[in-house]
Amino acid sequence: MEKKLTEGIVGRGNQDGAKLFKQWFELLNQTAETNGLAAYVFVMGSMAEILQVFNLPMVFPEINSLQTAVRRVAHEYLNEAEDYGYSPDICGYVKADVALQLRGGNHPMGRIPKPALAVLTNACNTYIKWGEIWERMYGIPVFVLDVPGSRQGGLLTFSGDVSFENDRRYVEAQIRELITLCEEVTGKKFDIDRLREVQGYANTMNRSWKRILELNQSRPSLFNALTDGTIYLGVFNGFRGLKEGAEYFQDLQEEMEYKAANGIGTLTDEKYRLVFAGVPCYPIFRRFNELFTNWGGTFVNSTYLWFASGGGNRGYEYDLDRPIESLAEGVLLSVRDAMNSMFHQNLALEEIIDSYDIDGVIFNPIKSCRTVSTGLADGRRALMASRGISSLFIESDMMDRRVVSEAQLKNRIDAFFEGLAARKQRELTTA
Ligand code: SF4
Repeated sequence: MEKKLTEGIVGRGNQDGAKLFKQWFELLNQTAETNGLAAYVFVMGSMAEILQVFNLPMVFPEINSLQTAVRRVAHEYLNEAEDYGYSPDICGYVKADVALQLRGGNHPMGRIPKPALAVLTNACNTYIKWGEIWERMYGIPVFVLDVPGSRQGGLLTFSGDVSFENDRRYVEAQIRELITLCEEVTGKKFDIDRLREVQGYANTMNRSWKRILELNQSRPSLFNALTDGTIYLGVFNGFRGLKEGAEYFQDLQEEMEYKAANGIGTLTDEKYRLVFAGVPCYPIFRRFNELFTNWGGTFVNSTYLWFASGGGNRGYEYDLDRPIESLAEGVLLSVRDAMNSMFHQNLALEEIIDSYDIDGVIFNPIKSCRTVSTGLADGRRALMASRGISSLFIESDMMDRRVVSEAQLKNRIDAFFEGLAARKQRELTTA
């Protein structure tokens, strides 16, 4: 009986995540085949809550692009965009998307529909230039939501503070403009009760996501923030505000609670608890992770799980009695948090180090995402000054296999673990 229960629960999140992912791309494929309307959005501030009210299928070009790398065909897309004139050193996600558009939406997981509108935030400056490409290609409306960030790292304002309330009203006014635009594009009237329903599902997802991340403080850790975490992020973004998304995250939380209660870890022999800063190396994703797990190292958390969930890690829950005001507050807090997790990674890492019993920090700046990578070296120095923790600084890319050297990575990672082992040994003998 016990064995049966374990078989039903453990691993369910990864299996169901793969199914939902397939389902999502089937919807996109069908939308493309029928020339249906679709919205192009980004992981930091997708505005899914509004778009779901209008039943607009959401396309996340960042996720499409990373999927080409995971499926080992990213180089074909990158070469095509570079031949078309895009520079080798700009964001690889943009270039893969440009090639995808030039191919009429052909993607390894199905056909991607053209955009009817694009919604972006200022969380990454590349978003804004990327939106301009679609504007030129398709003549669509591009809506840029300007979300005020922190004025200074670690200095946060909250509900009730004058500057926060001003920022919240500023975001709210823009959300009302977005609603009008969606009405024009779809020809449908906005339905506030449908927004409440969508926000209710988003609340469940946020609540569970926060709890799932906290549950990984368990020893042994329950999931790998790099590999399993990427699956969870896919569902978190693609199914945000949907019933399926809410059910998935409730199930995932149940799975993690079960694993925690029964001491079921992601590794059979967890030796080192790591935190990851940067963006994963998708061109050799599985192998990259193995370079750590082969030493008994596992990622218990990452700044990626924070910013690529658009700040969902904070678990903000909407007040359904004042849906639009509360949406503005949630967007402001969450997107601000996502930006802080990129621009002040040392502060996010300190928070993780203080509560996850971490042995080492892995910094992985990547060539083609400057937004996340710029400042990582300084962040590392600041972290070393505030927390005496071992760290490793490697370089790779999330798309471009030409700048990924597995042999070099392995040398650095092996040396790092040898140092960690020596440090642990010293600690044991002096304890
Ligand atoms: S520069 Fe980085 S954060 Fe910005 S779109 Fe590209 S991968 Fe995403």
